[in-house]
This record gives sequence, C-alpha cells and structure tokens, in this order.
Amino acid sequence: MSLEKTDGVVLKTVEWSETSLIVTLFTRDFGKISAIAKGARRLKSPFESALDLLSLSSVVFLKKSGESLDLLTEAKLQRRFRSAQVGLLPLYCGYYAGEVINALTENHEPVAGLMESLCMTLQELDRQASPAWTILDFELQTIQRLGHMPSWRWCVACGEEIETDRQSIAFSPLGGGVLCPNCTPTQRGYLRIDRQTLQVLETRAAHLSRSDLAMELCEPTATRAPAILAPKVRAELRLVMEQVMVNLSERRLRMLDFLGDLKR
Ligand SMILES: [Zn+2]
Repeated sequence: MSLEKTDGVVLKTVEWSETSLIVTLFTRDFGKISAIAKGARRLKSPFESALDLLSLSSVVFLKKSGESLDLLTEAKLQRRFRSAQVGLLPLYCGYYAGEVINALTENHEPVAGLMESLCMTLQELDRQASPAWTILDFELQTIQRLGHMPSWRWCVACGEEIETDRQSIAFSPLGGGVLCPNCTPTQRGYLRIDRQTLQVLETRAAHLSRSDLAMELCEPTATRAPAILAPKVRAELRLVMEQVMVNLSERRLRMLDFLGDLKR
C-alpha cells in the first residue's frame, strides 16, 4: 500500500454504504482507479463537490494491491463540467466521453495524454464548440492514444493502398480499417462509406496526430472546425465511430443512444 497523489476526472460514482461512495476516476499518473470515498454521502462531505461527475480534481489515495479497491483520502475540485447549463447535447456528449474512457481503460494502467484529451473535450463542450467535431476528435484521439487507430489508407486484409477515386469504400470495424475491392468479397460485417467520409476521418486523424496538445488548447475553435458536411457524411461519420467503439468495448455504450443529434 502506498499513498499517491495525482489529478483525475470523475467517471462514475456508485453508492457503497449509508455514507460512502465508490468513485471511478481516470487519473493522469495511474490510469483508471476505483476508490472508496468514506463519508462522501454525508451532508458535510469532506470531498465537497470534488466527486461530482466529470469534475477534474486533485486527489490523494491509498493504492491497494490486486483487486482491492483503493481508498480515497482527499479530493479537491479543480474544474467542474458545466455543460448542464449549456444544453442537453453537450451534456450527453460529456457523459459519453466519460463512458468511453471507462469502457476502454483498465485500472492502474496509465495512458499518456488521455486524461488531458478528456479534459480538453469537456472544456470544448462547456464553451459550446461544435459537439459533433469535439466528439469526433475525442474519439479519434482516444483510439490513437490506446493504439487502436483504424487504417484509413491501406487494406487491412492485404496491406495494399486503396484507390480513393472510388465513390464508396468498404470499411471493416472488426478488421480495424478499409478494405480493397479484391478483399472486400472475402470479408463480412463491413460498411460501405462515401469517400468523403473516409477523407474527413483520415484528415482529422492526421491533424490530431501532428498537433501538439497545448497548441490545440490555444487554437481558436473556428480554425479547427472544417466546412459544413453533407448530412450523409455526418451520419456515416457517426456510424463508423459507433461501430469502432462497439468493437473496442465489446458492448454497445449506453450514451450512444443519446447522441442522435450529432448526425444532423
Ligand atoms: Zn486488400
């Protein structure tokens, strides 16, 4: 057992006893942690609002070994997620971002930059940046940081570069990328997507991998948001990302059902 100090975003809280909560946080230095917060349900909680959903807080916890829950000893609020005051869609997008991180990460396995990506996403939603672009960038950043970025250019079955002059291209969520015309008939469960959808995904992914996170934070939203897209492309972007997320988390994420407005 050791006493550890870090920053983390609250992903989930569950009532544990009359007075306590089990809190799941995604932290900068320890990845996801699940800790008991004794007294957190009391009126005069020692944690005050530091354990509200999606708050960024500085925490001190006693790290237990094996499967045991950690013990949270201190939590101090740094930044609150405010999108409830902005609108329902940004609020749902924030919940979804938390659900994604919870579903795709393991306890005590740190992922470089992932907490910062989540914080940046929540800030963007709070300041009413486009939810559709904010969530797409979040999803791409998350799968990139976890090493699951799909192949947008090379066929996942044979490795050949695909021809992007075709109007529609096959994408296999299970295979993790695009399929060339030769390999497509041999595969199952692929989607047919417009080449413009593929271009958007490839361009955004390349932009995110190049850009420094700190610079990204300073960059005005207007320069980050590309042109308005056709409804078909917007719908396909969501379809691709939903399928990718379902495959990675091996279940349908609950909040996906609340993000229909991102397609419009
Ligand atoms: Zn192929």
